[in-house]
Amino acid sequence: MEDGLPADVPRLTRDRPAPPLGVVHLGVGAFFKAFGAIWLEDAMAASGGDWGVIGVSLRRPDERNKLAPQDYAYQAVELGPEGRQVRKVQMLRDILVAPEDPEAVLAVMADPAIRIVSLTVTEKGYTHSPATGRLDFAHPDILHDLEQPDAPRSAVGFLVRALDRRRRAGVRPFTVLCCDNLPSNGRMLRGLVLEFAERVDPSLAAWIAAEARFPSTMVDRIVPATTSADIERLAKETGLRDDGPVFHEPFRQWAIEDDFVDGVRPDFGAVGAQLTAEVEPFELMKLRCLNGTHSALAYLGYLSGHETVAEAVADPILASFVQRLWRTEILPSLIPPGGVDIEAYTADLLARYRNPAIRHRTWQIAMDGSQKLPQRILGTVGDNLSAERSVDGLATVVAAWMRYVGGTDEAGRPIDVRDPLADRLRALSNEAEGAEARAHALLSVREVFPEALAADPQFRDPVARSLASLETRGARFTLEALS
Ligand code: NAD
Repeated sequence: MEDGLPADVPRLTRDRPAPPLGVVHLGVGAFFKAFGAIWLEDAMAASGGDWGVIGVSLRRPDERNKLAPQDYAYQAVELGPEGRQVRKVQMLRDILVAPEDPEAVLAVMADPAIRIVSLTVTEKGYTHSPATGRLDFAHPDILHDLEQPDAPRSAVGFLVRALDRRRRAGVRPFTVLCCDNLPSNGRMLRGLVLEFAERVDPSLAAWIAAEARFPSTMVDRIVPATTSADIERLAKETGLRDDGPVFHEPFRQWAIEDDFVDGVRPDFGAVGAQLTAEVEPFELMKLRCLNGTHSALAYLGYLSGHETVAEAVADPILASFVQRLWRTEILPSLIPPGGVDIEAYTADLLARYRNPAIRHRTWQIAMDGSQKLPQRILGTVGDNLSAERSVDGLATVVAAWMRYVGGTDEAGRPIDVRDPLADRLRALSNEAEGAEARAHALLSVREVFPEALAADPQFRDPVARSLASLETRGARFTLEALS
């Protein structure tokens, strides 16, 4: 019983075969399992179609290894304030581990049965510069993928090489459905794919530009990382061993730009998705209102000693800071999508954050901040500065990120900072003398802060002031002084 479960606990099994294939999904993490896979299963149940999924892990084999012994079935557990509901999800046929066999991945992506390639590879999986939204041609995976057409490593490399194979074989392209939290995610990914394809063959780039489709999407459901305690508790409740369950809140929302190759797609509208001509107002609302305050709660909550979002918003100082951010800095920067009552939207967000059954760790959300701040916080800052509105609250969030990436918490304990730029950020922070110099050093990281923003005294001065206050007086005092 290596994981606390007796060896004789029977394993979860499939009770029906996987549906015929229609989708390749890159990045079979918690979010796809609790969101995309469930929408696909619901849409097929409502209206039919062949939308079974081959998952692809671009990194490690663990996603496959957990699910293979149970034939890729797993449980999705909905955690409502009033109780739990367990559902078996059976959409995955297989999971391929790309570094083990990139050829198998390209072959399935080129298969005419595949009409959609969807992605949840996290922000850093796009091998781009978050500050500019352009492909990073100095990224080692991009350099490798330009040299090795049959063995890509990056998501962009796989998309371009698979589309190239389809073009050569006279097969229609697939629709690329990006489900990561990035602004205009489809449009941005289209740009990255075209930049790469242009280097490979300009006529390929022209074909992709004309024929492929990259709808933008706004995805929303809170899905914390599954812990081993979650797995053990579920096994005790169900009497079944499941090594790959996911736990999620009841809420879900998916706004999708209705622009698919040849109009072919699952009937997501039949099961509640919003298919729209313009998804950007939904994305901006969600990125700024939800992801922006999630990052605020992650850094300020972590520094204040709160382990989860629910604990952080139970702290009146943090809850009122988040409400102040919405009221004075975030909502004034937005044009809400038609028909949305944005005050009610933020009130619902606070209720979702308060759900005590969802243990979403501040540390998990704090991860990869260098990739997240531009779209979650800095876009709002830029709009507010142009309109001569205050940015004091958002500057405090940026300062809290700076305090966090320094690598030591308020009690002097080390912070396990996970970020592609972690080493550089820590060095910049530790080499500078004093809060002002530290703030300026970190503002010079061009992957995060555009030059004009970093140089604007209306932004850099409150960031430096907040960082000084965080360092000398701590997070909770700094927030109290703001309100
Ligand atoms: P996860 O850690 O469970 O899965 C992340 C996936 O990305 C894994 O498949 C991993 O192998 C892959 N990945 C990580 N780094 C990569 C890289 N550099 N290149 C290629 N692939 C890489 O996380 P998750 O909860 O599934 O979230 C994934 C993404 O989904 C988030 O980054 C976000 O954009 C989006 N999302 C998540 C939630 C949520 O609540 N979890 C909500 C909305 C949107």
